Amino acid sequence: MTDVSQAEALVFERMPAWPSVRADIAASHGRILRESIVAERDQPPFDRVMMDGIAIAWADWSAGTRSFEPIGTQAAGSPELTLQAPGQCVEIMTGAMRPGGTDTIIPVERIRREGRLKLVVDATDVERGQFIHRQGSDRRKGVTLLEPGIRIGATEVAVIAGAGYADVEVTAVPRVAVISTGDELVGTGEPIARFQIRSTNEFSIEASLALAGLAEVRRERLIDDEGEILDAVEDLHHDHDALILSGGVSMGQFDFVPAVLQQLGAQVVFHGVKQRPGRPLLFATSRDAKPIFGLPGNPVSALVCLTRYVVPAFRRAAGLADTTTEHAVLTEPVSRSSRLTYFMPVELGWDDQGRQTAEPKPTNTSGDFISLAGTDGFVELPKGREKDPEGTVARVFRW
Ligand code: AMP
Ligand code: MG
Repeated sequence: MTDVSQAEALVFERMPAWPSVRADIAASHGRILRESIVAERDQPPFDRVMMDGIAIAWADWSAGTRSFEPIGTQAAGSPELTLQAPGQCVEIMTGAMRPGGTDTIIPVERIRREGRLKLVVDATDVERGQFIHRQGSDRRKGVTLLEPGIRIGATEVAVIAGAGYADVEVTAVPRVAVISTGDELVGTGEPIARFQIRSTNEFSIEASLALAGLAEVRRERLIDDEGEILDAVEDLHHDHDALILSGGVSMGQFDFVPAVLQQLGAQVVFHGVKQRPGRPLLFATSRDAKPIFGLPGNPVSALVCLTRYVVPAFRRAAGLADTTTEHAVLTEPVSRSSRLTYFMPVELGWDDQGRQTAEPKPTNTSGDFISLAGTDGFVELPKGREKDPEGTVARVFRW
C-alpha cells in the first residue's frame, strides 16, 4: 500500500498539462491565464488630472497670483489646451490630460467666480504638481503586468482590458467522464426499491470540479457488469481527457474496475493508500497516458479522495501557479489509529488571535454523506500518531 504523500507525487508526475486556447476577454473570468500580459502603453498613458477644478502654472502661483483667466474648458477624452500667457488657467475635469503649460490643479471647491476670472478662495496647503497622476507612474509601456498561472478574477480582467487585449490565452477546460458504478444505484426521479440507493457521487464530483472551473463533466451510471464497464470505459476514454470512476475498486466479487483497466492495457500506478477514509483508491493511466481515477464508492471516501488528489492534480494540469497550502488549529483532540493518515471533516473558523481553527465534525461512517453538508473540508492528520491534541496545526483541504 502506498503512503499519502507518495500517492500524491505519483499522480502529479503522471498528470498531463492541459493545452491552452484563446478566450474572448468577456468570457475569460474564472479561466486560468496562460500568457504574460504586457502593458500596451505607459500607465497612466498621459499626465492625468485627478480633480475637477482649474489647471494653473506653479510659476504664477509662487509669484502670488490667486486670480486666473480661463482660456477654455477641457473635458476627459479631448486633446490638451495650452496656456498662452501668465495668469491664465484651464477649467479642467477629472480624467483629462494635463493642459500644456500647467503643472498644478486647484480643486473646484476652492474656487469662486469673479466676473470672467477664477479666484482661489482657499489658498492653504497648495503643492506644486498636486492632483496630477503622472504618465507612467504606475507602470511603463512593455513591462509584464500579469504572469501566466493565475485565475482571472475581477482585478485581473481589469488589467487585461486596460492593456487592450480583445482575447487571451487560457487553459482549455478538460472534458471529464464521471462514472458511478454499482448495481444498487438509482438516479433521482426514478422509482426506487428497498434494496437500492440513490446515486450521489457523480453529482458531488461534478459540483466540485465545475465550481472550481477545472472540468466539464459528463455523468454516467453503470451496473456492476464487467463487459458493460469495459465497453463504457473504452468508449468514454476516446473523447475525454480524463476518467473518474466511483465504486467497484475494492476486493468484493463485483468490484470489476481494476480488472477492466488491466484488460484495456491501462497501467495501474497504485491501488490502495494508507489512509482513512478512501483506502481502496486507485490511480491508472490509459495506453495513451490519460489519467484514470478509481474512487471508492462510499460518498465520504469518494469526496475526500477527489479533494485530496484529483482536484490538486487538475489544478496543476491547468497550469495554476499557486501551490500555497492552508492550515488550521484543531479545536478538539482527535483519537485514531496511528497506522493510517486520517482525513477528518471540519468546520473552519477563527480564534480570538485571528488564527484559523478547525472543529472536527466526524461522520458516522464513510457512508454518512449527510453530515458533510455544512462542513468546509477536512484536515489531514498524518499517520504515526494515535492522538492529535487540541492545538495541533493541520493541513486543510476545502471541499
Ligand atoms: P463500493 O466502493 O462499490 O464497494 O461501494 C461502497 C459503498 O458506497 C456502497 O455502500 C455503495 O452502495 C456506495 N456507493 C457506491 N457508489 C455510489 C454512488 N454513486 N452514490 C452513492 N453511494 C454509492
Ligand atoms: Mg459497488
